[in-house]
Amino acid sequence: MYATNYHRASSVDEAVRLLSNADEGKYVSGGMTLIATMKQRLASPSDLVDLRHIPSIKGIRVDGRRVTIGAATIHADVASSAAIRAVCPALCDLAGMIGDPHVRHMGTIGGSVANNDPAADYPSAMLALNATIVTDRRQIAADDFFRGLFETALEGAEIITSIAFDAPERAGYAKFPNPASRYAMTGVFVAKGAGGVRVAVTGAGADGVFRQTEMEQALAANFLPEAVAGVTVDPGALLSDLHATAEYRANLIKVMAKRAVAAA
Ligand SMILES: Cc1cc2nc3c(=O)[nH]c(=O)nc-3n(C[C@H](O)[C@H](O)[C@H](O)COP(=O)(O)OP(=O)(O)OC[C@H]3O[C@@H](n4cnc5c(N)ncnc54)[C@H](O)[C@@H]3O)c2cc1C
Repeated sequence: MYATNYHRASSVDEAVRLLSNADEGKYVSGGMTLIATMKQRLASPSDLVDLRHIPSIKGIRVDGRRVTIGAATIHADVASSAAIRAVCPALCDLAGMIGDPHVRHMGTIGGSVANNDPAADYPSAMLALNATIVTDRRQIAADDFFRGLFETALEGAEIITSIAFDAPERAGYAKFPNPASRYAMTGVFVAKGAGGVRVAVTGAGADGVFRQTEMEQALAANFLPEAVAGVTVDPGALLSDLHATAEYRANLIKVMAKRAVAAA
């Protein structure tokens, strides 16, 4: 056993102050990843600063097509949001595919994005939707936020407070889930908006979530599932593990991209 100090923050400023004063503290939100990591002794923070009771970082706002989701919003609330479904149903569908009901009622969008697990669903949506990650001190474009396996642009005690994006004209998500965990063995989010087509892949990249630019070009010319058939996916930069080889994931990227476009 080891001792951990628990703090319940009631504002973002208080959370930042508590973490800055801790020896080796960590924010905890849904705890779905962090608590499991602590149980496995892969992390042993001196202090846990709980973000779940900060009202300003919870909830969903949709103004026209501008969607803002508080970082401490649980996956179940995104999945069931009528306001988001009216403008971007693909994101509700994605949230509804995360884990199981327990995970969806505890895990948060901010925790998922901050964790940047290479098989997590939300990072692909953030990239494809060209989302902005809003923190207590700046706004970071998704293209600049995800930096590799479990790596992000977050610094020190920086807190994600919300994520925001303009809902695209059309979007779709398809994933091939690991049958045990439901994490993506490969997931593809496709969005078509004013800025063109963006395609983001999770679960398959050896360096985490990435944009599939060849598919973006093919779909910009012809937004139909058949358009990705002619794209060659190089397995060289893909993940090989006990679940699937890189070649298998390369094929899954094409199959999931076709399904995502059909869903869009
Ligand atoms: C059985 C199981 C199945 C799962 N299946 C899936 C799945 O299919 N798809 C999927 O995408 N995910 C899946 N997950 C992960 C789940 O979505 C988690 O909710 C998510 O990864 C982490 O969110 P959390 O709120 O629990 O974060 P926590 O575990 O509390 O924190 C994770 C990390 O993020 C940091 N953090 C949390 N909030 C913030 C913030 N606002 N600002 C800055 N840093 C922050 C913490 O310090 C910590 O380092 C699964 C988890 C489990 C246990």
